[in-house]
Amino acid sequence: MTTLFISDLHLDAERPQVTDLFLRFLRDDARGAAALYILGDLFEAWVGDDDPSETGAAVAQGVRELVDAGTPVHFIRGNRDFLLGDDYARRAGMTIVQDPSVVMLEGRPALILHGDLLCTADTGYMAFRAQTRDPKWQAQFLSQPLPARIAFAQHARAQSRDAQAALKNAGTMETITDVAPSTVDEYFVRYGVDLMIHGHTHRPAIHALDVGGRARRRVVLGDWYDHGSVLRVDGDRVELEGLR
Ligand code: MN
Repeated sequence: MTTLFISDLHLDAERPQVTDLFLRFLRDDARGAAALYILGDLFEAWVGDDDPSETGAAVAQGVRELVDAGTPVHFIRGNRDFLLGDDYARRAGMTIVQDPSVVMLEGRPALILHGDLLCTADTGYMAFRAQTRDPKWQAQFLSQPLPARIAFAQHARAQSRDAQAALKNAGTMETITDVAPSTVDEYFVRYGVDLMIHGHTHRPAIHALDVGGRARRRVVLGDWYDHGSVLRVDGDRVELEGLR
């Protein structure tokens, strides 16, 4: 049986062809899979489950149909959709999994996470992450009217673009926005796994590593900008595939 992993679709109304590709993936490729894991940034932005977006409604229905057909769907929140809540998850029929989590995959433990936790060199982002994951901050944010929340999200995205442009100018973009190798090693050891699967950096690859004298693999999922990207795990097969 195949287990599927995807992340970083960044779905929104401005790229309807990607939403269509994802809905087709749910109807065709994902049917019959043992499970589908969505490791964050399914949506480009998420300001609350009460946002009546058409993209959100179409995705909930598509996921629900896959779940009803017998494939469980698990979701880890990303840095764009960290406010996706229990209401929406219930509507879609998917379960929310903590970031990070250890899951059993083909009889062996694997660590799954969005991936932003590994980018510890980006101290500005890590501070923002800590602030916005605070339940008190989230409750306060979600109590604001929808237009105010949408304005905040647009502002945060503009700030993030500015920060990335500054890193590019300074020539530190590649290292700061990628995972910190020492943090990766630490996670392998702390969770006692030989396989780690994450997204976030948009640098799809299967890295073979030696950590503490053990052979380990770190799989980085691809984004859904030029085309779709999916990781298939079946027996000993661990393969990243493009999707059109
Ligand atoms: Mn991300």
